[in-house]
Amino acid sequence: MKIHEYQAKRLLAKFGIPVPDGVCAATPDAAAAAFDELGAPLSVVKAQIHAGGRGKGGGVKLVRSAAEARDAAAGMLGKPLVTHQTGPEGRIVQLVYVERGSDIARELYLAVAVDRVHAAPVMMASAEGGMDIEELAVERPEAILKEAIHPVKGMLPFQTRRLCKGLGFTGATAKTAAKVMMALAKAFTELDCSIAEINPLIVTADGAVIALDAKMNFDSNALFRHKDLLELRDLNEEDPKEIEASKHDLNYIALDGNIGCMVNGAGLAMATMDTIQIKGGSPANFLDVGGGANKDQVTNAFKILLSDDNVKGVLINIFGGIMKCDTIAEGVIAAAKEVELAVPLVVRLEGTNVQRGREMLEASGVALQTASSLDEAAEKIVALTSGKAGSAVEKQA
Ligand code: GDP
Ligand code: MN
Repeated sequence: MKIHEYQAKRLLAKFGIPVPDGVCAATPDAAAAAFDELGAPLSVVKAQIHAGGRGKGGGVKLVRSAAEARDAAAGMLGKPLVTHQTGPEGRIVQLVYVERGSDIARELYLAVAVDRVHAAPVMMASAEGGMDIEELAVERPEAILKEAIHPVKGMLPFQTRRLCKGLGFTGATAKTAAKVMMALAKAFTELDCSIAEINPLIVTADGAVIALDAKMNFDSNALFRHKDLLELRDLNEEDPKEIEASKHDLNYIALDGNIGCMVNGAGLAMATMDTIQIKGGSPANFLDVGGGANKDQVTNAFKILLSDDNVKGVLINIFGGIMKCDTIAEGVIAAAKEVELAVPLVVRLEGTNVQRGREMLEASGVALQTASSLDEAAEKIVALTSGKAGSAVEKQA
């Protein structure tokens, strides 16, 4: 789960990390009032969307008066903001954060993420913070310092000293920076983050260390122990299809291809997506209906797949184990009738009650093709959908 910058900053502040004062605003007038409330000669109006790269996309504006704050907010609110992380359609800005401006002497990078190689959270720091950390990671990975965080002992003081030295911090600034590092590691662990990133972490002209930007993502599997974090969820920022899927306990991730896939089991779902790709097609989603889905879940899954306009065909690939093939068939038939299926459908069933499932599908009158192997199923659906990408809305009986 992702949250907004202003929410992440409030959480980091609770762990003792200094952040600038700020006020949220949903209208240009509220942004002007926020400028006056902050009472600083310089403030920053920042678009709140779940994506980075806002600075380069025009979503971070320095303002010197209430009127400028109003104009900056009016230029962002209600409009799409396109950054390298949003895709070409951008995200509609619904809220801006007006923040007391900082006098920046240095911009650094500080983050904690889980690292597979170390099998532990790793703190990453770089003297070259600011806007292009992704490029830096590719071009000069040696400019990013790393310290693995011990899963039980946590971040240790010698590690923060090593990072501070590497970043060129001395004296009081090094002390404050070390505190920020300890606090970030603690926040990451206690809040079950998947990433906690401060980019930039700045040093001001008078030596203060401040988190100027903040990004926190949380491990959804741990949210049951953080009810307060769940309240920070912003459904406006999520794909409506994914929200609908989560209501029915379905694991659904929207992708940008044109073949909708319904599969049981994450491994089989991955294999199905790979096979579609090998056969020259492109999956529209990852969907794992789970080992023990019922008819309603299958019906809902099918509806979610078909609500995606990009979907020009559907491949159902089910291995009936705990979930029986006839249950799947029942769900598919019910859903196909309810939604007036207008795209080609290929079904491959195997496993428990497969015979009964196939008979039900055949007897149903639903227009579909069956396949007896995954290869064959993928070939069929790719053939039926090829040339139907993008805006082609041909219908197939
Ligand atoms: P991002 O582009 O989405 O990562 O947004 P950031 O919050 O990181 O802001 C982008 C850039 O705007 C920062 O790297 C700073 O250079 C600049 N910026 C943000 N806040 C301030 C501020 O208070 N004062 C000054 N001078 N620059 C700022
Ligand atoms: Mn940033």
